[in-house]
Amino acid sequence: MVVEDIEEIERKYFVDYDISDIPDMLCTYYENKEFELVYYLSERYRTDFFQCEFYLMMSMMELGLYKRAYKCYKKHEGDWFQSFKQFNIYWKHAAIYSLYFKDMEISDYYWDIFNEYFESKIVQVVELIYDGMSESIQNTELFKNLSKDYPLLNKVWDRGSQKELQGLSVKSEKWQYYTDYNFQISDGDEYGIELVYMENDLEIYSYKPKNVAASMHILRDKDCTIILDCGSEMSQGRVMNIPVRSILNRLNIQHVDFALVSHAHLDHYGSLSELKKTKVFMTEETGRIIKCVTNDVRFNNIQFVEAYSYLEFDDIWIQFIPNGHILGSVLFDINWKDKKRIIYTGDFSLSDQCTVRGLDLKDITKNKTKVDVLLMETTYGDKTDMLTLESYEKIFISLCEKYLKYGNKIFIPCFAVGRTQETAILLAETVRKGGYNIMIDGLSIKVTKLYKKIIDSKRDILNGRVNSCNGIRDIDGKIDNNDVILASSGMMQPGSTAAKYVERLLERENVCIMKVGYINESQGMLNVIKNRQYDEIHFEDISLSAHAGYLELIETVETINPDTVIYVHGRGIVMDEI
Ligand SMILES: [Zn+2]
Ligand SMILES: [Zn+2]
Repeated sequence: MVVEDIEEIERKYFVDYDISDIPDMLCTYYENKEFELVYYLSERYRTDFFQCEFYLMMSMMELGLYKRAYKCYKKHEGDWFQSFKQFNIYWKHAAIYSLYFKDMEISDYYWDIFNEYFESKIVQVVELIYDGMSESIQNTELFKNLSKDYPLLNKVWDRGSQKELQGLSVKSEKWQYYTDYNFQISDGDEYGIELVYMENDLEIYSYKPKNVAASMHILRDKDCTIILDCGSEMSQGRVMNIPVRSILNRLNIQHVDFALVSHAHLDHYGSLSELKKTKVFMTEETGRIIKCVTNDVRFNNIQFVEAYSYLEFDDIWIQFIPNGHILGSVLFDINWKDKKRIIYTGDFSLSDQCTVRGLDLKDITKNKTKVDVLLMETTYGDKTDMLTLESYEKIFISLCEKYLKYGNKIFIPCFAVGRTQETAILLAETVRKGGYNIMIDGLSIKVTKLYKKIIDSKRDILNGRVNSCNGIRDIDGKIDNNDVILASSGMMQPGSTAAKYVERLLERENVCIMKVGYINESQGMLNVIKNRQYDEIHFEDISLSAHAGYLELIETVETINPDTVIYVHGRGIVMDEI
């Protein structure tokens, strides 16, 4: 089906919304090409997939096509079910399904869950349903009939009671954020260190960066001080170290017993050079990657630890648990002198990626000791879209195929460590099948070679077709000779290889630039590209993430069930939209 046909469907069913003959055409199409259509619609209406699928399903229901709608529901019940179990935003959906599918083969099990979740919330939920539904649905006999089973529903028909209804934003009381103890050390407001936890004599401090989130946390009691991660920031193409010494001075810390590094991203190890004599522990993979990308870190004081091994120091036990972020990354499960159990997640992901398995929360919960403090990254804590990484990967591949088919060049700025290799693997099959040329450039070349050496992966990162050639000379030639180019820096920092490509590509036609990872909008060239995207440049923003998304963060908190959660490395979990 060509674009015009999709536009015709769209005009007919989503703009004019003449519902008289949606079913067959839409459903036929939906079954065959559902993915493409939904993506197209979500792009067009700037809404998310779930919403689109949801609207499609609603239109089916509106037409009384419950079987078809139910099929659609079944297809996603895993996602949705998971979601609404945990999220307010999906109570609405769940409630609708439960109302609509009451006569369908929904098991008792589901009803129990629904009831458990809705009993106390039914008024609010129904109110949301009401708001979310088109008038024609509200007026259907079906809905009215079903509403008889829910006495509370009638209250909602009375719009007068609306004011008393509260929003659904709920925060567990356990999720404390110790802002009471905040204080700041500032050098012209460039940075701060925040006391985020204090109990008995144990204190946890967290570095508060001004821009990009460089990570550093300090745990200490009267006898012992350890540092978790020691990153640096990249600002306008310059690396800026954390002023570790002056922070330690201000906190009156004369001696650091040791430091731990969670993974080989600059924002977690970049300031290690400030810790001249301190002993540092990291996994061997992390060490090898750091060595590959920088000469700034001296390895005299670094000791390698194995995944799942323990480190013991003065009654402090630390286990290094693989956390699914990038090759070699680990979280720290810290038992502090049998008094407190503290988990520092580092950057983490529950989803499997091509080069690394997702964090298995059982690795944490199988040790039955209660977790007192969860120090959790929240890079994507404010991203409320609900698609899984797997879905995003599918979107990414299908988009690339589409662009390539119509003769576009695809440029993907990627972090040299992790994202480049993941992306290359995802594209391997497409590239092979289509006979396309793909190239990796910049710092990523070295790292990719190292990844190949380390990984025992069935999936070949380079697939034999990737050209890599270093240097920034002859960029035009490289663009001419390749269909897909991946280059660092991922943020397109000024002066980086990626930025140089973008400068040239902006002068061309038939180019698609894909954002596949975190980019700080205040830096690099993202804004320049975005300003041009409606003219001649295609720009796609696909969330391929090595970080836990909103759902995974909540799942992590619920599963670990700690007394205190401290959000770091992001804005925290933000429920800003229902
Ligand atoms: Zn990272
Ligand atoms: Zn990070």
